[in-house]
Amino acid sequence: MNTAYVETVMPISMAQKLQLRPAIQGTVITPDDPQYDEARQAWNLSVDQHPAMIVIAAGVEDVVGAVRFAVQAGLNITVQGTGHGVVRPANDSLLLVTSKMKTIRVDAAAQTAWVEAGVKWGEVLEKTQAVGLAPLLGSSPDVGVVGYTLGGGYGWLGRKYGLATDSVRFFELVTADGRLLRASETENSDLFWGLRGGGGSFGIITGMEIKLYPVSTVYGGNLIYPLSMAKEVYARYRTWITSVPDELTSSIVIMNYPPIPEIPEFLRGQSFVIVRGLYCGPVEEGEALLQSWRDWQTPYFDGWRVMPFSEVGTVSAEPLDPTPIHSTGAWLRELSDEVIDTLLRTVAPGSHGPSPLIFAEMRHVGGAVARVSPQASAYGNRDAAFLLHLLGVTPTPEAYRQLAQYAGQIKEQLRPYLTGGVYMNFLEGEESQRRVESGYSPEAYQRLAALKAAYDPDNRLRSGFNIQPTR
Ligand SMILES: Cc1cc2nc3c(=O)[nH]c(=O)nc-3n(C[C@H](O)[C@H](O)[C@H](O)COP(=O)(O)OP(=O)(O)OC[C@H]3O[C@@H](n4cnc5c(N)ncnc54)[C@H](O)[C@@H]3O)c2cc1C
Repeated sequence: MNTAYVETVMPISMAQKLQLRPAIQGTVITPDDPQYDEARQAWNLSVDQHPAMIVIAAGVEDVVGAVRFAVQAGLNITVQGTGHGVVRPANDSLLLVTSKMKTIRVDAAAQTAWVEAGVKWGEVLEKTQAVGLAPLLGSSPDVGVVGYTLGGGYGWLGRKYGLATDSVRFFELVTADGRLLRASETENSDLFWGLRGGGGSFGIITGMEIKLYPVSTVYGGNLIYPLSMAKEVYARYRTWITSVPDELTSSIVIMNYPPIPEIPEFLRGQSFVIVRGLYCGPVEEGEALLQSWRDWQTPYFDGWRVMPFSEVGTVSAEPLDPTPIHSTGAWLRELSDEVIDTLLRTVAPGSHGPSPLIFAEMRHVGGAVARVSPQASAYGNRDAAFLLHLLGVTPTPEAYRQLAQYAGQIKEQLRPYLTGGVYMNFLEGEESQRRVESGYSPEAYQRLAALKAAYDPDNRLRSGFNIQPTR
């Protein structure tokens, strides 16, 4: 443990609270307020955080006001857009919630959008699809634009147009000492390099401009096969993706559908292997790519279809309501028979009983992600071929601990086939603090630590990735 930066516990006095309230247009909440329990909640209900104070910011001035107050009061700051990817719970710090900062401005001619810190992807999707453009969102439209983008951001347009972080034109942010800055290729370019992949450790993003792409009608969905065919499906998938164009981003999933009413009856409580994805070129070409699967075997369910890109969230159909989850992941070198056997043995239900995991998804990467120079931004692991995501629902702290341990054992068994790197967006909680160095090349991590020393030497911004300032 690094003992250089010990958490400070600073109770907020009534006088301090009264001092901040008039300076904030949004809401200031302390533990004695009735709204406290609702306001401290994250989307991931496994997070149980107890901030010293919560500021729900109405705009940039509130962010500056809250930061300056935190500096004066000796409080650390935790930023939360939605709470989908909490790295460190906001215990005893000032929780700065951006969810009310919702402005979106689309420039259809320039194919860009300016989005404020509290915007979710689904909100950008709606505004941009209205003019035939698409942002680089991920599998869930409920995830926040800023948190997702700071960690990389790999979605269904990823192999064609790259990571969300590669499509940022500039960030606007408030530094840990309360200064307003802009970071782009030409202004504060060191910060711009670090924010793209390095997470929210260097400042509080208040807004950013992103590039948009001309995508409106796509071909996507799920081919669902019985688990008994899993080995053959994996083997076919492994061959299939060697010849697919970048317009196709796909994944192969072992899915254990929970026995809950929200799941359609024909899937409820059962396990399957699924070939999932989205083709963003001409739809006839997408249909032709899928034909080889249909000619091979009739699936249990064929859900690939022509759809407006606005419906991209239906491909993974992830829960929108707050849910208690544990998420982890790893980069894989290859999809060998041993990897397939290990995943089937551990993730599918079997002699060990039902699996604690809802899914193990292996996303095919490469394409535009791999074509960007590894030096262009802090983001690491551009050369890995497959991104593994393991996720389970964890209604109690005990279930969370057990799942984290179980997922750890799976990764241990897969170790010979892993690159050793991690994708920071798919980690959360303690693991994302502990494994941060594996998210980057050694050179990039050193550069991030120096950047942290320059922009946040006291490590006041605690919710970003756990990058310790160079001393
Ligand atoms: C259901 C689900 C689906 C997902 N799908 C994908 C996917 O397809 N692809 C992918 O790449 N990832 C995916 N993720 C991971 C997701 O990108 C991360 O969890 C991401 O951190 C969420 O960002 P957020 O802003 O919604 O969450 P938050 O928990 O609010 O924020 C996450 C992190 O970003 C920082 N942050 C947020 N806002 C700011 C700000 N204004 N300034 C500075 N720092 C800030 C926070 O401090 C925190 O460290 C998914 C996660 C879930 C739960």
